[in-house]
Amino acid sequence: MNDELTYLEVSVSRPRVGFFELASCEGCQLQLLNNEDKLLDFLNLLEIVEFREAMSEPSGDYQIAFVEGSVSTREDIEHLQTIREKAATLVAFGSCSCFGGVNQLRNRFMNRDWPYQQVYGTGTLPISPLPEVLPLSAVVQVDVEIYGCPVNKDEVERIITDLVVGKPVRHPKYPVCMECTAHGYVCLFDLDEVCLGPVTRGGCDAWCPAGGTGCYGCRGPAEVTNLEQLLTSVLEKGIPVETLLDRLECFGGFHKWADRLRRENHFPDTSQE
Ligand code: SF4
Ligand code: SF4
Ligand code: SF4
Repeated sequence: MNDELTYLEVSVSRPRVGFFELASCEGCQLQLLNNEDKLLDFLNLLEIVEFREAMSEPSGDYQIAFVEGSVSTREDIEHLQTIREKAATLVAFGSCSCFGGVNQLRNRFMNRDWPYQQVYGTGTLPISPLPEVLPLSAVVQVDVEIYGCPVNKDEVERIITDLVVGKPVRHPKYPVCMECTAHGYVCLFDLDEVCLGPVTRGGCDAWCPAGGTGCYGCRGPAEVTNLEQLLTSVLEKGIPVETLLDRLECFGGFHKWADRLRRENHFPDTSQE
């Protein structure tokens, strides 16, 4: 691996980077390792000092920390605070870390102990669950968010390059619909299916509509959103509001909208129980 790293013929330093996981499936970290054709170039950009998926001897001396997963236990809080103390830049890596992700569905359960009882039985738990699953930003300051379940590896490379050369990190402001329409995919609303593409931040290249599935909003809200218009479109199609709620509640990025819809449509607000 070269010691000298240049960008546009200017020398830049290779930052020491650690990858960490809290409550997660580790799918976002795997996205990086799956990027075989560019993996060596990518590794040349960074000095990776902690990455449990790929190395066995962590160093604990890093400048940038990528943290995957949501905060769901007291142990997660302590781990995250330690990472934050050491890192100059903390990156929330994937939807679990940005919004709570699929883990935050536990917050919607009437009986929040139920998932733990299914896994550990009714005895003493080996972990200390929090009453609510939280995104990283509820516990520590987050400097950069990378959205997606999983993250889009091309986007991760662009963001990491920006971090290394000191450029501001930019995210698409437009919704998934823009990418979907540019590809000429059939709109799922025309097939009477729900899709959160009109309100979800673009950048995934409309992965789900490309496969014939409506967007579930894993990248969170776009810069400008119009819930009323989305709701009108759903109701005009005769689609039940519950179907829209299923999507809005899936990854946590739209939880405020979901709570509002529950209140206004008189569904039980399970998040409060
Ligand atoms: S965002 Fe998705 S892929 Fe990434 S850790 Fe969470 S569940 Fe796994
Ligand atoms: S399928 Fe979804 S993302 Fe594509 S145009 Fe229709 S609403 Fe937008
Ligand atoms: S289409 Fe929606 S749910 Fe699918 S990857 Fe893109 S943002 Fe996530």
